[in-house]
Amino acid sequence: MPELPEVEALTAFLSERLSGREIARVQPVAISALKTYDPPVTALEGRVVGPVTRHGKFLDIEAGGLHLVLHLARAGWLRWKDHLPDEPPRPSAKNPLALRVRLAGEAGDGFDLTEAGTKKGLAVYVVQDAGQVPGVARLGPDPLDPGFTPADFAALLQGERRRLKGVLRDQSVLAGVGNAYSDEVLHAARMSPYKLASSLTEEETARLYEALVGTLREAVERSRGLAAGELKAEKKLGLRVHGRTGQPCPVCGDTVREVSFADSSLQYCPTCQTGGKPLADRRLSRLLK
Ligand SMILES: [Zn+2]
Repeated sequence: MPELPEVEALTAFLSERLSGREIARVQPVAISALKTYDPPVTALEGRVVGPVTRHGKFLDIEAGGLHLVLHLARAGWLRWKDHLPDEPPRPSAKNPLALRVRLAGEAGDGFDLTEAGTKKGLAVYVVQDAGQVPGVARLGPDPLDPGFTPADFAALLQGERRRLKGVLRDQSVLAGVGNAYSDEVLHAARMSPYKLASSLTEEETARLYEALVGTLREAVERSRGLAAGELKAEKKLGLRVHGRTGQPCPVCGDTVREVSFADSSLQYCPTCQTGGKPLADRRLSRLLK
């Protein structure tokens, strides 16, 4: 799933290609991805794209007073095409197309939104104001906002009774951090994903803030200037523990371990994060009771 750094890079990539261009056609293919109907997606046609921005993991393409807001979810992706085919789009197993946006002009350039797999989460909204999208309205502060201070972060954690892993990826607490970067941030901070947020000392809170902002900034820096098609591979290369179960930790050489958490799984390094002790799989132990 694209998280803050990838969506930030996509925002820059699209801004360069879309701003100042007129939208010729918007063609929804997977109707389930379309979350709003008034105004219809066709209302974007003939409008000129203004700024392209990001709200957490949401992309926001402004065009003549309307906003095309996109959330790529777990398996959605954006594919830029220098020349889109002329025939009407049809989804297929090889090309799981959800929405096509074609720009005006000879070239016929634009982008396809695709979504692989059977669990559909891709979401497309056309609204007058991005704040009308419930997921955007709910967002907590953006960790890369220059105004987001260590004191703001400490205030978010105060009285928070959940485990760090759950808190970091909760979009209403912090905007843009998902399953991958929450693992990376906790590894960089040398903290257990199971640690209770409210139990952090002042020093630990400061360390977690540094890890959060540092990890995200580094990832944004690495993906800057990359084309949409290159972002996934770059994200994978930069990860130290996430998705690396069984491989050596690049910091200490211990084996990266995995444990299930909520609806997915998390990866961590026991030596760096849990005093060398493997975490108990809470879901598994519950099943065995
Ligand atoms: Zn380690």
